[in-house]
Amino acid sequence: MILILLGPPGAGKGTQAERLVARSGFRQISTGDMLRAEVARGTPIGREAKAIMDRGELVPDAMIVRLLGDRIAAESGHNVILDGFPRTVPQAEALDGMLSARGLRLAGVIVIEVDDAKLTERIVGRFTCATCGAGYHERFRPTRIPGVCDRCGGTEFIRRADDTAQTVTARLAAYHRQTAPLLPYYRRQGKLYPVDGMADIDAVAAAIDRVIEGLESAAGSPKCDRARLTHPEAGL
Ligand code: ADP
Ligand code: ADP
Ligand code: ZN
Repeated sequence: MILILLGPPGAGKGTQAERLVARSGFRQISTGDMLRAEVARGTPIGREAKAIMDRGELVPDAMIVRLLGDRIAAESGHNVILDGFPRTVPQAEALDGMLSARGLRLAGVIVIEVDDAKLTERIVGRFTCATCGAGYHERFRPTRIPGVCDRCGGTEFIRRADDTAQTVTARLAAYHRQTAPLLPYYRRQGKLYPVDGMADIDAVAAAIDRVIEGLESAAGSPKCDRARLTHPEAGL
């Protein structure tokens, strides 16, 4: 099953993807993580991307489509969650092309809906474990023991260079201008499943699980009416 997690920066895509990977055996493909790895390694892509990311803008479609194409091929045969891709209509069109060339289809697009006002506090309080990458929040998802990663016991944590109040404005503007047009794009394909991202992490997780269960039972019962079973857009 191939799923997209869509939503503004700080909506909770990475948090929910991390949980699905741990619990349901999905492979997560995060273009943000891939780009940060390129930056850390100082590759030509990383050098070009860094300044753009620090400004809170989107990197060029061609760069991201190239990065993603290799990765999708490497993960073929697995359940995959795309986190942070596509972010523009040309990227979505490129994904449609890549999938159909491989005889694959997109199961659904889960949109985590969060008001802009809430996103700033989520982003500025975000940090991750330097050792295993587990994601946390100062207020909303603290480590159980202060200063110690729940998952691996690591004691080093990192904050993203672009997680500042200043870049949030630019990132939200990029989301509304370049990424929001994906909502009508996928609505037209009957694949859009919104969930309420204002709720707490567990409630969002439960809503996402209900969408996935609906998609799984629809996929397992070809005679059923997929749209009726899974209620696209009804938020379940
Ligand atoms: P967030 O967690 O805020 O949604 P990501 O980690 O997904 O952010 O992305 C961080 C930055 O990486 C973005 O602001 C953008 O500069 C770049 N980026 C990530 N994915 C894409 C993409 N699909 N297209 C263009 N730029 C991207
Ligand atoms: P994205 O990948 O969409 O940019 P993240 O998953 O990194 O977002 O979440 C942003 C921050 O908000 C993280 O620090 C995370 O712990 C926290 N967070 C995620 N989901 C929720 C939620 N439903 N309620 C409160 N905080 C959340
Ligand atoms: Zn850790």
